Amino acid sequence: MSFKNKVVIITGASSGIGAAAAKMFSDEGARVVMVGRNETKLSAVAKRCSSPLVIRADVANDDDARRIINETIKKFGQIDVLVNNAGTTMKNDGLLGSDLMQTYDAIMNINLRAVVHLTSLAAPHLIKTKGNIVNVSSIGGVLPPGPGATNYNISKAALNHFTVCAAVELGGYGIRVNALSPGPVKTDFFDNVNEGYNVETFRPFTMLKRVSEPEEMADVILYLASDRARGVTGSNYVNDNGMIIKRL
Ligand code: NDP
Repeated sequence: MSFKNKVVIITGASSGIGAAAAKMFSDEGARVVMVGRNETKLSAVAKRCSSPLVIRADVANDDDARRIINETIKKFGQIDVLVNNAGTTMKNDGLLGSDLMQTYDAIMNINLRAVVHLTSLAAPHLIKTKGNIVNVSSIGGVLPPGPGATNYNISKAALNHFTVCAAVELGGYGIRVNALSPGPVKTDFFDNVNEGYNVETFRPFTMLKRVSEPEEMADVILYLASDRARGVTGSNYVNDNGMIIKRL
């Protein structure tokens, strides 16, 4: 799965799944572009990668999104892979709460709108390289694990549908677009979003009674982005320790 000289943009590379993917792409020879907002965390991950381009940016900010693409082209002259991994959720009081629409906007802007925007900005460059896109979604977009995360779940369900729409629209140009839907993964996600529970909460609700390491998600991201998956597009690869099937 060599990515020698391929230029790979990874959003949310400062932590968790994105950080694991950045390291793995770098180990496979890619020229990695690491995007995130937290400079300290970005620097720590960058030390484990070979000469990455680090771009401190908020994917939900339109000027920042343009800057991500422009700085990448300025430095490397091409884009081969876009990994839309940055994502968030926020504690809220659900459909009966007064904070519903604020959290709706904040979550949708990062999890969906930014992906649509970055995809459109990267597409002209991906056409030139016959590159591809991997969107990091969630099993919440397939089947809500329980009540209380409606905004997050619908953002990821829409991301799944966007993945298919983009695969349809860009397929004629030779661009593949796929999604990965993780189940519970040991990252800072749950601490960062302060939802009040730990990833271990989910272990009993998986068929395999386990939660995943971020590298297990990075493995799938690299596979989908590689030539080995040259016939795979519009897919949603579920990697969840059997959490969805346990609920069927
Ligand atoms: P982390 O919290 O460890 O990482 C999230 C990353 O997203 C961070 O690098 C963060 O960077 C970045 N990010 C968030 N908002 C923005 C923004 N506005 N602009 C730029 N970067 C942003 O969580 P994970 O690694 O677990 O999450 C990665 C993806 O995996 C997300 O899309 C999440 O929805 C998905 N996922 C995770 C699961 C899990 O169990 N962990 C389960 C299912 C899906 P910074 O703070 O530096 O901006």
